[in-house]
Amino acid sequence: MKKGIAILGATGSIGMQAMELLALDQSYSIELLSCHSNVSTMALLIDRFKPKQVVVTEKKAYDWLYRQKMNSKTQILFGEENILKAIESPEIQSVLNAIVGFSALKPLIQSIKSRKQILLANKESLVMAGELIMNLAAEYKSTILPIDSEHSAIFQCLLGEDNAAIEKVILTASGGPFLNFSSEEMKQVSPAMALNHPIWKMGKKVSVDSASLMNKGLEIIEARWLFNLKLHQLDVVIHPQSAIHSFVQFTDGSLKAQIGAADMRLPIHYALYYPNRKKQTFSTFSPIDYPELTFRQADREKFRNLALAFEALKKEGNAPAILSAANDVAVDAFLEHKWPFYRIPELVEEMLLTQPYFAHPDLETLLETTTKCFAESKAYIKKNKK
Ligand code: NDP
Ligand code: MG
Repeated sequence: MKKGIAILGATGSIGMQAMELLALDQSYSIELLSCHSNVSTMALLIDRFKPKQVVVTEKKAYDWLYRQKMNSKTQILFGEENILKAIESPEIQSVLNAIVGFSALKPLIQSIKSRKQILLANKESLVMAGELIMNLAAEYKSTILPIDSEHSAIFQCLLGEDNAAIEKVILTASGGPFLNFSSEEMKQVSPAMALNHPIWKMGKKVSVDSASLMNKGLEIIEARWLFNLKLHQLDVVIHPQSAIHSFVQFTDGSLKAQIGAADMRLPIHYALYYPNRKKQTFSTFSPIDYPELTFRQADREKFRNLALAFEALKKEGNAPAILSAANDVAVDAFLEHKWPFYRIPELVEEMLLTQPYFAHPDLETLLETTTKCFAESKAYIKKNKK
């Protein structure tokens, strides 16, 4: 029998790679797809995959798609509320959440409460509300399989291990396009430069985050919650070749690493077929192609975002939600040429220092924190733009 799947954020970088894998496979039936505004791509996905339902979260885009596809068998719906309703369908067993940013949060919570298996690419939701999400997942016995490559690596290294024997988890970072830039050169960074990642081809937000190393900061927080780790068990190492996707060091001194091509289809494929390892033919890896694997300390002064993420994690409470929300606004402003790249950490730090802190926030407080931080970050940009 086919397994029903929902792909949220189907038109994005991760979503489209998942669709590419699903096109080769008969074991899944596509029940639900979502996108925000890229309805021309969604129209193609409808023609090719004939999903039962599609939800679009931007109104004008929805109106267009509805008119285009009103006579097709796919039901076209509008708005987040309909994503939440559709997820509940008993036909859906797995939900792949590849929405970017904090909009992934409510669908993630709904998937957990509906006891689905979750394939999670989105990281901002775990950064914002990791404790709450993991508690809910335990309560509803919903499995979360990470798609983020570092977390998929850690997950694989931990199979068959006792988590009490973890000494440290070391996330690898390519270092992004500006690894060797001076502080002066950092001042000249344009959106086109930041979007041109040397190894990974990704969506815009995660590309900018990778260039500023905020991505690694967010991933540290993501790992803290996914694997129930303490701050002192988390570290980052720069590894420009991106062959090793992360390490786990155990108390007996042994170190496990997961190695593979820098190809997001691999962790997506792993999550789709877990616990099996299904044969694939799209990506191979030979150590001979990597005669040199190098590692170096991450420079937390030059890449201040990384230091700020560790600080937010140390504070916990709503601090990571503030970090993530301020960064969201800073990245958007940078992409719109309204805020320079090198000042992204300044805005994030300002919000961490000035926004009200709550040690044990509930969901409502986290949502309020995020909304308020979005507004205050925008106001800060307006006031402090040079
Ligand atoms: P993209 O920007 O490429 O795609 C994002 C998807 O989310 C699109 O389908 C987009 O729809 C949809 N979306 C955008 N805004 C909203 C909204 N307000 N409400 C609902 N849906 C929305 O992102 P990526 O695929 O690169 O990343 C997705 C997530 O996965 C991120 O959290 C990222 O950090 C994480 N990730 C990505 C990796 C990668 O290689 N790309 C690697 C590891 C993690 P539309 O196209 O219509 O705008
Ligand atoms: Mg990653």
